[in-house]
Amino acid sequence: MSTKPTSEAGAGDPGWPAGASGPAPVGETPDPYGAYPRLNDAQIAALAALGRRRRVRPGETLFSEGERNCDFFVVLAGSVAVIEGRGRPEERVIAVHGHGRFLGELSLLTGEGSFYAAVATGPGEVLAVPAERLRELVGRDPALGDLILRAYLIRRSILIGLGAGLQIVGSGYSPDARRLRDFAARNRLPARWLDLEADPGAEALLSQLGVAPADTPIVIVHGRLLRNPSNAGLAAAIGLPAPSAPSASCDLLVVGAGPAGLSAAVYGASEGMQTLVLDATATGGQAGTSPRIENYLGFPSGISGAELADRAVLQARKFGARFSVPATATSIARNNGLYTVRLDGAAPVTARSVVIATGARYRRLDVPRLEHFEQMSIYYAASQAEALLCHDDPVAIVGGGNSAGQATVFLSSHAADVTLIVRERDLAEHMSRYLIDQIVRIANVRILLGTHVQELLGDQALEAVAVADDKTGARRVIRARALFVFIGVTPCTSWLGDLVDLDDHGFVRTGQHTPRAADGAEAETCWLRSVLEASQPGTFAIGDVRSGSTKRVAAAVGEGAMAIRLALDRMQSM
Ligand SMILES: Cc1cc2nc3c(=O)[nH]c(=O)nc-3n(C[C@H](O)[C@H](O)[C@H](O)COP(=O)(O)OP(=O)(O)OC[C@H]3O[C@@H](n4cnc5c(N)ncnc54)[C@H](O)[C@@H]3O)c2cc1C
Repeated sequence: MSTKPTSEAGAGDPGWPAGASGPAPVGETPDPYGAYPRLNDAQIAALAALGRRRRVRPGETLFSEGERNCDFFVVLAGSVAVIEGRGRPEERVIAVHGHGRFLGELSLLTGEGSFYAAVATGPGEVLAVPAERLRELVGRDPALGDLILRAYLIRRSILIGLGAGLQIVGSGYSPDARRLRDFAARNRLPARWLDLEADPGAEALLSQLGVAPADTPIVIVHGRLLRNPSNAGLAAAIGLPAPSAPSASCDLLVVGAGPAGLSAAVYGASEGMQTLVLDATATGGQAGTSPRIENYLGFPSGISGAELADRAVLQARKFGARFSVPATATSIARNNGLYTVRLDGAAPVTARSVVIATGARYRRLDVPRLEHFEQMSIYYAASQAEALLCHDDPVAIVGGGNSAGQATVFLSSHAADVTLIVRERDLAEHMSRYLIDQIVRIANVRILLGTHVQELLGDQALEAVAVADDKTGARRVIRARALFVFIGVTPCTSWLGDLVDLDDHGFVRTGQHTPRAADGAEAETCWLRSVLEASQPGTFAIGDVRSGSTKRVAAAVGEGAMAIRLALDRMQSM
């Protein structure tokens, strides 16, 4: 990363903190993306009330890589370098910050271990605010809170783009390597992928660590070597929220942390309910994999699903919701009016109400050798992580809905070319007009209508896709190193067993047992129950998992809020 003097330097900058005016320090990292804003006097004064000023020595470590819950630092004088892999051969300076800038990134708010160290480059002064006080301030002071949060979200994207953070080393043909890469991507963890077949650095690193290629995949987290960790093991090493304590109980258990579950968590916790949220893979659900949601109210220039999810998690935590990721619900039972949900590899959780928000999973293609290629070349999401993996390669996308459309727009600026394979003869059948208008104008996108995938071609990795015209049967072969599949969904309801009624496609039925309303107040509750209550009292299905739901982020979020109204009524009546 460049350490050229910043262009922000100048006596006219209104943001200099008191006593620290003057040009930005030589060597300070420039800030083209707004990741490193400079706090003004009033902002520093507000923070100073929560922490303490102290002198720092040259070379002093303010926090180390892997450290959790370290202080929030504002540089008052001198400068501080942010260093990845300090003391290791791969050591590199990520950024240098001078007066008025603050340190840290998203992990400071989420409680994960820091992905880098911060070291004073010379004598100086800092303001240190305990992380807990910072989290309170972010919730209390919208202007300052948003400034810090925005900067932290951008810093996380920068880290992901730099391939900083974890190192995952393994074969591109290994299912476990793919699992670990997916887990990192879904949880928006900065990670560098070192492919044994393609990256000479991978073998060098293995021999330096004394690990045989047969013993991969490995993950290096904060300088620690993990051999083929489980997702839960990796989460624990990073400091993602640990699974709940044995026999945990709560007022409200939210299963699934997509937009629906996150909304239920925010509303439930803000109403004072003891709220626990579980997710099998990552917070954000399907929306978390969307590079840009353009139709969510209040975000005229769109918002990435990852940012929406990160913001929602912080918001839910602010109100006291607890998260457990990864934690997969495997079954549910009712005892004395309470529900017990069993988890894969963790103790069961008992709750008064259960919000079923497990969404739906993308369908798989019905073609030979799918499983073989799934381990390395087939994707069911198109986020920044996937874009990095297929950079400058030709890719193909299957599907005619908005997810396929968004993926096409996004990947066209990363891949060499994109072929969109659509079963329908008219894109407008399932895709929104705004996406069609964008796609038809992109030079490196080719659209094949009335076409289906017939065969996947390649030896180990995918090299091409054979497609056929639905009417004529004419076959053609398209070069593709990666295939993105968006062809409809299957609900994630197997964990419910036969506790609640499902429709013919496996989605949760709601409202069958709702009584008729008598007066106005009751009418509201009855209407809500008719929409969201599953066939057992105190179980509510929201978002994509609900039979007849509108498969949209806003609908899922709305249902999350509505379900809490019912869960509260139940809690008060028990
Ligand atoms: C690429 C893409 C782009 C999209 N773009 C848009 C858009 O622009 N606008 C829009 O309005 N909608 C969009 N959608 C649709 C939108 O994302 C979904 O409607 C929304 O995410 C549904 O939210 P949900 O919370 O109901 O379910 P999901 O988002 O599917 O979340 C369900 C969660 O439950 C978890 N889970 C499943 N089973 C278990 C279990 N047994 N135990 C624990 N956890 C479990 C999953 O891991 C997942 O995180 C898009 C979808 C995709 C895939």
